Amino acid sequence: MTHHSYDVIVAGVGAMGSAACWHLAKRGLKVLGLERFNLGHAMGSSHGMTRIIRLAYFEGSHYVPIVRRAHELWEQTGTEAGMKLLHVTGSLDLAPEGAGPVESSLQSCLDHGLSHERLDGPDITRRFPGFNLPAGHVGLWQPDGGFVASEKAIYAHVGLAQSRGAEIRTNEPLLDWTPTAQGGVVVRTERGTYSAGRLVITSGGWIADAVPALAKRVSTVRQAIGWFTTRRPELFRPDVFPVFILSVEEGTFYGFPLYEHPGFKLGGPHFGREPMDPRDDDRTPSPRQVALIRECLARYLPDAAGEPLTLKGCVYSVSPDEDFIIDSVPGVPQAVFASACSGHGFKFASAIGEILADLSTSGQSAFDLKPFALDRFAA
Ligand SMILES: Cc1cc2nc3c(=O)[nH]c(=O)nc-3n(C[C@H](O)[C@H](O)[C@H](O)COP(=O)(O)OP(=O)(O)OC[C@H]3O[C@@H](n4cnc5c(N)ncnc54)[C@H](O)[C@@H]3O)c2cc1C
Repeated sequence: MTHHSYDVIVAGVGAMGSAACWHLAKRGLKVLGLERFNLGHAMGSSHGMTRIIRLAYFEGSHYVPIVRRAHELWEQTGTEAGMKLLHVTGSLDLAPEGAGPVESSLQSCLDHGLSHERLDGPDITRRFPGFNLPAGHVGLWQPDGGFVASEKAIYAHVGLAQSRGAEIRTNEPLLDWTPTAQGGVVVRTERGTYSAGRLVITSGGWIADAVPALAKRVSTVRQAIGWFTTRRPELFRPDVFPVFILSVEEGTFYGFPLYEHPGFKLGGPHFGREPMDPRDDDRTPSPRQVALIRECLARYLPDAAGEPLTLKGCVYSVSPDEDFIIDSVPGVPQAVFASACSGHGFKFASAIGEILADLSTSGQSAFDLKPFALDRFAA
């Protein structure tokens, strides 16, 4: 058994953990990242090539300062890594007039002075003829939205972290950890034990194994994504077609312009969730989810409604109020975690990595993290 010591151990090198490794290593700290699977694997929450980034945030205006920082960091990290991570296409929220998502996104734009435009149905189809929306649907256009290349983002963060000396060990899950009397931690894996001053836990769908206090607060559900043959690819290129969230009677779906795959990507239904245990290796999307996605394409994006080319399932970790949980482990201030991003966390990963580095070095963050505190559920 080996025993090495580090300033910080990061357990889980996915979206959040890879970013944390980079922000910690950049500060000159000796970092160990432990990952259960291979880097960029398809068992967690971050595979599938792309994730939407939206500044107009229907989930709440309190997310906007963090997503603005994330936007800036995606650009910066991409430049530092020599990889294009952020693709700005504009974002569209689409919903029936007066319904929540468009109104709440609009409010977040007003609260934070984000440029935006309200579009009615004919405006939308004139500008983006790929859509065939139900009568009465309206849109909220925000020009800074787009997508982040998701596996590439993990590779970029890890490469940068390694360039500053971080050690990344894949296929080596944390088995358990204990706080020490000196205020550090000891972490055990099948290959050894490691000590560190701080522990950052970013193990996504598996987080309750390492943070039992989350067991009652985080549930895991299956989410489906698919890429479909497009009849008119010219309508869905990233220079003419945005990322979007579409609320319709079948559910809430999200889509992307064509990117490094011949098919049109649609995911969802965002709220139509099916419980799953991430320890079960099957990531096949359910027939119900695939049928709903295909129905959504056929009705609202008919030129993208061809045969499926690729179908994948993915894990959402969900909190009871669908807000993130970012905090320290109760009674153990040297162990911090970020979890339960409830199907909308990837876009924030660059900033959450920085937040976790701040929390584990100074105990503080420049952002208001009260909405994400674990004790909000205590009552
Ligand atoms: C299909 C789908 C679509 C989504 N779309 C969007 C979107 O468009 N925009 C957006 O912002 N968000 C989106 N999300 C949500 C977003 O992708 C997640 O919030 C984000 O990926 C979560 O990152 P994470 O680091 O917590 O999890 P992950 O990236 O899954 O990382 C957790 C890592 O921990 C590892 N691990 C687990 N246990 C251990 C252990 N004991 N020891 C070591 N390592 C361990 C896992 O193997 C994994 O690599 C989507 C999610 C899904 C599933």
